[in-house]
Amino acid sequence: MPSNVTICYIRGDGVGEDIWSASHEVLEEAVRSAYGGEKRIEWIELLAGQKALDHSGSLLPDETVEAIREKKVAIKGPLTTPVGGGFRSLNVHLRQLFDLYACLRPVRYLEGLPSPLKRPEHVDFVIVRENTEDLYRGIEWEEGTDEAREVLSLLKERTGTSISADSGIGVKPISRGGTRRIAKWAIEYAIKNKRKVITVVHKGNIMKYTEGAFRKWSYEVAEEYPDAVSFDGTEGKILFNDRIADNMFMQAILRPEEYDVLLCPNLNGDYLSDACAALIGGLGVAPGANIGDDIAIFEPTHGSAPKYAGKDVINPTSFLLSGAMLLSYIGLPEAAAKVERAVESTLRSGIMTYDLARQIQGITPVACSAFGKEVKKMVAQS
Ligand code: NAP
Repeated sequence: MPSNVTICYIRGDGVGEDIWSASHEVLEEAVRSAYGGEKRIEWIELLAGQKALDHSGSLLPDETVEAIREKKVAIKGPLTTPVGGGFRSLNVHLRQLFDLYACLRPVRYLEGLPSPLKRPEHVDFVIVRENTEDLYRGIEWEEGTDEAREVLSLLKERTGTSISADSGIGVKPISRGGTRRIAKWAIEYAIKNKRKVITVVHKGNIMKYTEGAFRKWSYEVAEEYPDAVSFDGTEGKILFNDRIADNMFMQAILRPEEYDVLLCPNLNGDYLSDACAALIGGLGVAPGANIGDDIAIFEPTHGSAPKYAGKDVINPTSFLLSGAMLLSYIGLPEAAAKVERAVESTLRSGIMTYDLARQIQGITPVACSAFGKEVKKMVAQS
């Protein structure tokens, strides 16, 4: 009897159903063929988002939370952010609930992908984004509310700061503890994965005590790894440096070969993820993972793209590559490599969904399901 690899999954809202349908058999085939039929995936479906609301009256049922706590690993499709009431964002809520403090988003050029760059093969970044603070922990008060007025008068009274009375107010917390743990995580990731450079991406020239502190505390952690990290490019060690965020966006486009692991506070990582995805074809090919000390949830970088829901056109690559990340994380690197290689060969042979095909002359787009079938065939042949 084959041994089962149990994986929890959430289909997600919008295009979630399309990408799940196109992808799950690819992952099953990869596990089956990588281990000569000795292992197979047993899926456990969990509900969240609109489907959960329709079914049980809750956007995030207790059973879903308990199952993720117990199984410790899950893959999910995108979840639409409910408008009005409920969670600010279900995705953010899941990351906070399980303390998934490291958001990992590899951005690697695969042969055949369209790119606005002349030398896209140099794009091989890993964005490590702090996933619990900054934007995600931010508090806002609407312009004209009692709370906003109180905060303004407190600021005036205590610090003499005068802010226009018709302002909305936001608070952006970045802590020493939160920064230290993501910096440590990024350095250990870089060591384990033999990465060459870690660049802290910050706006510390302006926001000195949040973004600037993120930079300072990250360097302090780096100094605790003298055997592995250098600040001057010593041969054989990881070069640790930093860039101001606006410059980093330019550098990523003009000199991608100089960058490797990008260590970002939450908001910078958010912006940079989509911008870097654009260098290799777009959101359709950008995988991701949210990782804590105990639990990990894998998911594509993109959202639920509601206008494409149910149309069988969307690109499932980001979900497939997120699945490959999951397989590697749970100790099945051979299966992960099969998925990656099959996606790469499929793209190289010019089989692409609309988002990539529209960037290359002469390519006729295939459906989401057809792309999945092709990748599955490649997995089986590999
Ligand atoms: P989005 O769903 O990521 O879609 C934005 C655009 O990106 C799409 O219109 C499409 O571009 C392109 N795109 C996204 N996924 C693609 C794929 N698999 N293949 C090809 N192209 C793809 O962003 P949004 O429209 O701003 O957000 C929709 C909802 O998703 C919101 O409720 C948002 O809060 C939520 N969201 C969820 C997550 C998550 O679950 N982690 C992440 C982000 C957003 P074209 O129109 O140019 O074809």
